[in-house]
Amino acid sequence: MQNKTAFVTGASRGIGRACALTLAKAGARVALASRQLDKLEEVAAEIRAGDGEAFVVELDMREPESIRKAIARTAKEFGRIDILVNNAGVTKDGLAVRMKAEDWELVLATNLTGAFIAAQQVLMGMMRERWGRIINITSVVGQAGNAGQANYVASKAGLIGLTKSLAQEVASRNITVNAVAPGFIDTDMTQALTAELKERITAVIPLGRLGTADEVAGAVRFLASDEAAYITGHVLSVNGGMYM
Ligand code: NAP
Repeated sequence: MQNKTAFVTGASRGIGRACALTLAKAGARVALASRQLDKLEEVAAEIRAGDGEAFVVELDMREPESIRKAIARTAKEFGRIDILVNNAGVTKDGLAVRMKAEDWELVLATNLTGAFIAAQQVLMGMMRERWGRIINITSVVGQAGNAGQANYVASKAGLIGLTKSLAQEVASRNITVNAVAPGFIDTDMTQALTAELKERITAVIPLGRLGTADEVAGAVRFLASDEAAYITGHVLSVNGGMYM
């Protein structure tokens, strides 16, 4: 991945951080974006300590203007953006009958509309370059559904539809668009689950454990690589077999 540049949303922790470190290790110059600059600086320091190149940029996925600015600043810094990893995401769980409109909107705005705007912003440059990779981080629940997460599941299922539509629109320009669907991964997002719930979840995972952020990042690195040049519109599950 020498001479490639990547923009990773939600790179301050968890799966996004792992994607940024993994892409940097593979030789890409990486822009780290999220709301917490101090946390991003820590990840950037790790990348630089390994002789990688990192650029830190503030981004709020709920604000279209913030996305445009962050991507424009990165394109100016790096010259272009070759790889977009739409990873930033939030949950705001609750049963649908009682779900507040603001909780629905927050999750859709962050996870789906934000990802769409980020893709729009990088696509012009990728089309010019006749090369690009967009990788959207969806979720197993976007494939299977999940009670208590109507907003999150709708956003993640929406990302799958977005992935397939964009893939068809931009394939002729040598740009691939794929999704990675993690199962239950050990990050801050799943740390919030009770021990009892984790035990119940683990019981239905054929591989018998939660996944790691690095295991998701490995799938992202593959889809961003030249080896995956003929794969587009695909949803790659990294879920220990919990949904097939
Ligand atoms: P996490 O540890 O909670 O991290 C979420 C990341 O998203 C943080 O870096 C956060 O950055 C960023 N983020 C949240 N809201 C943002 C906003 N408004 N603007 C910019 N950045 C924002 O979550 P994770 O487990 O690593 O999850 C990463 C992605 O994988 C998410 O899309 C999630 O839905 C998906 N996923 C996770 C699992 C799992 O089991 N963990 C399973 C399936 C899918 P700041 O707080 O610094 O802004």
